[in-house]
Amino acid sequence: MGATFVYDFAQGNKDLSHLLGGKGANLAEMTNLGLPVPPGFTITTEACRAYLADGDLPPGLPGEIDAHLAALESTMERRLGDPADPLLVSVRSGAPFSMPGMMETVLNVGLTDASVAGLAAQAGGDADAHRFAWDSYRRLIQMFGRTVCDVPADAFDEPAHDLDADGLRALVAAYQRIFEEHTGRGFPQDPREQLDLAVRAVFRSWNAERAVLYRRQERIADDLGTAVNIVAMVFGNLGEDSGTGVAFTRDPATGRAGAYGDYLPDAQGEDVVAGIRNTLTLDDLRERDPDSYARLTGIMSILEGHYRDLCDIEFTIERGRLWMLQTRVGKRTAAAAFVIAAQLVDEGVIDLDEALARVSGAQLGRLMFPTFDLAGAPPPMATGTAAAPGAAVGEAVFDPHRAAAAAARARDVILVRRETTPDDLPGMIAARGILTSRGGKTSHAAVVARGMGRTCVCGAEALRVAADHLTVGDQVINEGDVIAIDGSTGAVYAGAVPVRESDVARALVDGGESADPVVVAVRRLLAHADARRRLGVRANADTGPDADRARQLGAEGIGLCRTEHMFLGERRTLVERLVLAVDDDVRASVLAELLPLQRDDFAGILRAMDGLPVTIRLLDPPLHEFLPSLEDLAVRVAVAAERGGRDGHDAELLAAVRRMHEQNPMLGLRGVRLGLVVPGLFAMQVRAVAEAAASLAAAGGHPRPEIMVPLVGAVQELEAVRAEVTDVLRLVAKETGVEVDAAIGTMIEVPRAALTAGDIAGAAEFFSFGTNDLTQMGWGFSRDDVEASFFTKYLDLGIFGVSPFESIDRDGVGRLIRIAVDEGRAARPDLHIGVCGEHGGDPDSIHFFHEVGVDYVSCSPFRVPVARLEAGRAAV
Ligand code: ADP
Ligand code: MG
Ligand code: MG
Repeated sequence: MGATFVYDFAQGNKDLSHLLGGKGANLAEMTNLGLPVPPGFTITTEACRAYLADGDLPPGLPGEIDAHLAALESTMERRLGDPADPLLVSVRSGAPFSMPGMMETVLNVGLTDASVAGLAAQAGGDADAHRFAWDSYRRLIQMFGRTVCDVPADAFDEPAHDLDADGLRALVAAYQRIFEEHTGRGFPQDPREQLDLAVRAVFRSWNAERAVLYRRQERIADDLGTAVNIVAMVFGNLGEDSGTGVAFTRDPATGRAGAYGDYLPDAQGEDVVAGIRNTLTLDDLRERDPDSYARLTGIMSILEGHYRDLCDIEFTIERGRLWMLQTRVGKRTAAAAFVIAAQLVDEGVIDLDEALARVSGAQLGRLMFPTFDLAGAPPPMATGTAAAPGAAVGEAVFDPHRAAAAAARARDVILVRRETTPDDLPGMIAARGILTSRGGKTSHAAVVARGMGRTCVCGAEALRVAADHLTVGDQVINEGDVIAIDGSTGAVYAGAVPVRESDVARALVDGGESADPVVVAVRRLLAHADARRRLGVRANADTGPDADRARQLGAEGIGLCRTEHMFLGERRTLVERLVLAVDDDVRASVLAELLPLQRDDFAGILRAMDGLPVTIRLLDPPLHEFLPSLEDLAVRVAVAAERGGRDGHDAELLAAVRRMHEQNPMLGLRGVRLGLVVPGLFAMQVRAVAEAAASLAAAGGHPRPEIMVPLVGAVQELEAVRAEVTDVLRLVAKETGVEVDAAIGTMIEVPRAALTAGDIAGAAEFFSFGTNDLTQMGWGFSRDDVEASFFTKYLDLGIFGVSPFESIDRDGVGRLIRIAVDEGRAARPDLHIGVCGEHGGDPDSIHFFHEVGVDYVSCSPFRVPVARLEAGRAAV
């Protein structure tokens, strides 16, 4: 017995989406719920994988299709394409993960020159029935030609909406000629051949360029394959009492409760999504056809209750009879995700843990993006539907390929189209925002933009969009002119508009009362995440004001205070003198000048974080980073010599810079190595910390500094520094009479440190993973070089799915981290362990750090809420 490749709708259920695709699994689920789904069956993703591997249908599949088709024919009491009374079907793609509009569907399969008359007879045989039959046939030739036989989409002109039966019959003849011109064969007249060719085409569409691109964007695996659904046709194009629509059980843009949707009378399904005609609302439907409306909203609440989430649906009304053609848990904006999760908790449908699972750090990050500052904005030149939020400013570009090319030249682009199709995908990915003049919240542009987190305004009908410019009234926007679009209000502006902090970000910083439902929902879920999470969240901050803001955003300390910026600006001359110092006395006097400056810096941060730990990293970068560049100095010295003068200081400095020049500075004299080579440098920094802490403590504060040594690879390095640090701390305690307890620890960022963590823990009270350097040295990737030079190639080749600098490489660098955590803790059970690389703010990495037992993550202040949320999600 081979595998079963075909399932009747009655045999499947919603949990089989890997095998039946999302569409097939949910059609089965609705069938079993007793909802009105046209009968049909699903060919599995497994059959697709076999077809793509072998280039032919797997043995056994044709026979199974025969059997299921025969069963469908007997249920419907019609035979596929029967000239007298034809059964028609749709052949629909449906992958395990939703890929809206990326793959193919063919409607009206079974229509031929012979059966078109039978269809007209079925529909009543009058003039309208003939019109309907010929309209359905021309749609088949068009869709079949385009998707099955690669006839270019624009080869077929769209017909006028008011063509009569004769006009449509003539159009069918014209379409058939076009079909033959492009394919070298007549339009297939055997219904079963149509079906088989369509099935193969749907299988192949899995590997269409745009589908591959979409999967890469959305990180969907390439080897899943698509299922194919064969569904008995129902007709929305049978006149004014028929129609088709798309609806959501809640508003997918704002999350507001209550059904939301678009409806088109006398149309077939793809017309709505294509945005070809402007749609009616569900309220309009209620007026036109109250019975269908009532049935529809009843079914929508059944579906919500069943899936316990926002559902989107596709439906068709055939002469007053409602049919369900698709449902799934619907995509939504970030704001809607938070609002809906909180609503469902209030409605008693889910608990807070589940609500937490239904939102993500990436969504919260999006909500914290800046928005337009409307105070200085001109009135909008047009307003469309606010389809996907964000404030995007960029050059208007009217073609997806030109948009991609401009973005590749680092231009900010707004892709402007009448409507988008899947062919626009490269441009949509490259653009900051997408603007269309047609279609609603359910149009292709809106759905794809929401999925990708792009800003989108659609259906701005006042815009007349041409191939390389647009006009609104007498205003013209040419390609390259800057425009701004507001995906939260739908406003479109000519020219740039200043941006400001988002409401969510502002509310989280100032902590004041807010009635904004998004703010309320975000706060509620963040509070629950805080209650649930095991990981602490600290911030990376180098200044008092940054530390303040981090604390307001919920940081529980500073995980990384870099001291290098304290050596910049006017202090550069001090660093120069430090480098040039020939003897210990000169060096000591320079360090003595630096001391009070550093002390003030540390006092500011310790004060902002009073009562919370502040991890201060001793100087890390190579000293020559603070000096003028070799080239500049050489030129200066040469110019001075030319003029007959001689700048003794510059010449001396040049010699020093030459002496210190390194081929690989990131692997050179930096971090702990510098501290061991430049006498007194680390001691001065530690003294500054200790004195700042002592004076704060004397004034009644609770400073909690931690001293962190960078770039340690061997315990001996740490022991040497540790001895010096302890001496300074003891000395300052004696001088000030204030005992300040400062933990001494190290970064783990050199692979050797991770591998000898057991030894290093002997001299360290805490570890903090510097995951940037650990990744850099673990892979041997120079971070400043590789991202531009070959990472795109590596991503294309699938060597990794995401840059290891963005998301922690669990298998390699992650293994080093596991070893260091386990062996460090084995040697010192109370070892405190944190992460201070940029991975500390990355959702995926946070889940990994939770798993391996790290105590806290530290990230930039703005990412702190994201990290809190993800740490909570990792724990539920
Ligand atoms: P997509 O995945 O791009 O949404 P679908 O397979 O859902 O493609 O089909 C495209 C359109 O055709 C949808 O609007 C759908 O509702 C409609 N459709 C599909 N099958 C049928 C059918 N058997 N009868 C009527 N309309 C259909
Ligand atoms: Mg669909
Ligand atoms: Mg480092």
